[in-house]
Amino acid sequence: MTQTQSAQTEKECIFCRILAREIPSEILHRDEHCFVIRDIAPVAPVHLLVIPIQHYIHAEFISSGAAPDVEATLGHLMSVAREMAKREGIFESGYRMAVNQGPDSGQSVDHLHLHVLGGRVLAHEG
Ligand code: AMP
Repeated sequence: MTQTQSAQTEKECIFCRILAREIPSEILHRDEHCFVIRDIAPVAPVHLLVIPIQHYIHAEFISSGAAPDVEATLGHLMSVAREMAKREGIFESGYRMAVNQGPDSGQSVDHLHLHVLGGRVLAHEG
């Protein structure tokens, strides 16, 4: 699969449409590389999504050379997640960053995103 072969094109992508203001969602943070929203179906008291502005399907496309700045992109998402955890008051209590990647993970939106979960004790995944 290439970066453009996806069930969801950029035009149809929920996150691209949120960024384009075609679907309403409060944007909690935005910079030149990413933006942050609350998950519409939260599974924890705090459930944020840190989303790169560029429509990468998932992290594999970054590391495959589709985006040469792999560390920078992923590192930036994690750095923003950390700042958002502070803002949301879960930095000290602890939180989880998670990326679902591909069918077995249950990835439902084909646009790379980092889940930030916290606000309660989280069960181990798997
Ligand atoms: P994933 O299953 O890792 O692909 O996560 C996609 C996430 O996007 C899910 O947790 C959904 O609840 C969330 N989601 C879908 N539509 C929206 C929306 N309009 N606003 C915010 N989050 C959404």
